[in-house]
Amino acid sequence: MLSLARPADVVFEINLGAIQANFHTISALVEPHVNVAAVVKSDAYGLGLVAIARALIDAGCDLLFVANLDEALLLRSSHIDGAVAVFCDEFTRFDRCYRSNGLIPVINNCAELEAINATGRQTYFLNVETGLSRLGLALVDVRRAYLSGTFDRFPPLIVLSHLACSHCVADPTNLLQRSRFQAIYDLLRPKRGSLAASAGVWLGKSYHFDMVRVGSALYGLNSAGIQPNPLQPVVRLLAKILDVRNVAWGEAVGYGATFRAVRTSRVAIVGIGYKHGLPWACANKISVRFAGHSAPLIGRISMEYITVDMTDVPEALCRPGTFVELLGNDFTVDDLASAAGVKSQEVLTRLGAGCTRRYLSTSVLPTRSLAW
Ligand SMILES: *Cc1c(COP(=O)(O)O)cnc(C)c1O
Repeated sequence: MLSLARPADVVFEINLGAIQANFHTISALVEPHVNVAAVVKSDAYGLGLVAIARALIDAGCDLLFVANLDEALLLRSSHIDGAVAVFCDEFTRFDRCYRSNGLIPVINNCAELEAINATGRQTYFLNVETGLSRLGLALVDVRRAYLSGTFDRFPPLIVLSHLACSHCVADPTNLLQRSRFQAIYDLLRPKRGSLAASAGVWLGKSYHFDMVRVGSALYGLNSAGIQPNPLQPVVRLLAKILDVRNVAWGEAVGYGATFRAVRTSRVAIVGIGYKHGLPWACANKISVRFAGHSAPLIGRISMEYITVDMTDVPEALCRPGTFVELLGNDFTVDDLASAAGVKSQEVLTRLGAGCTRRYLSTSVLPTRSLAW
């Protein structure tokens, strides 16, 4: 294949050390007996499954949750042999794949529970539906299985459930789900119970049970809006100025002419667009930073380009080839998401998938594998 072999025009920088620091921050927020499992589904929220998994294992994490078997097998083929649980993927069909690769299924319905009973001894987690109406056994089915002795023979190692409203402390759904979960926990007495994901960590200890399952917070997203934010930002987003042009007073900039120059302006054309995952809805709402200056995006986001008003930036600084920062310590994924009116997790997964990634690593420890 012919290639110019040159550096990327858009760089999505991922700080592995910051992810490890966030793992330690969460670990310090829970009691010592509470395990912190890492959720690395969806290609680690777009940050790169294998690199993120390694960094978290190096930081001391001993259980990873992935979305499906494909992700789990990618970890195994990358020689990550610690404990890996799969949130949802056809256990009834692929039970042998789970077993031969030492993967832990999350059992989400009665058919899967029957299948796991039929296959004999295998470590599994049981997902119980307490108020999200997504995956998991209904409470009535858990009780029925309990009464018929299913769990005497093959008890689940972990019983888990997922909160619908944990980002909002005052929402009564939290208490309802916790009390339903508590009832199942008392009934089954599993080795571990797990109710809280990232935002649930800040609902307090009564939501932690024996394990929290944390994704967003590791990647620096402050879903619960905790102030001051204890999490480190993890990503930086940089894009290159491709061209600079003068725009006369009264001329429009971009599709739909949503911006019109009210003075003679200098406009930089920067090589990033919604193809890279930049939300279209942030048009005319955010700024870029470089060399101590800040300059606003004007006009719509194109597929491959944005336009930035550089009129107030010294001309000598604003040259094709210069990189400007869209995300970093001063303006985070959460800030971009709220400017665009979308969800931080959506912004992160799309940018991660759409941009060239570059890893900053502060960790030099070898990958640790734990028998779990
Ligand atoms: C995605 C997910 C998590 C992690 O959620 P965050 O809010 O990103 O921490 C935990 N548990 C389940 C079941 C999930 O689907």
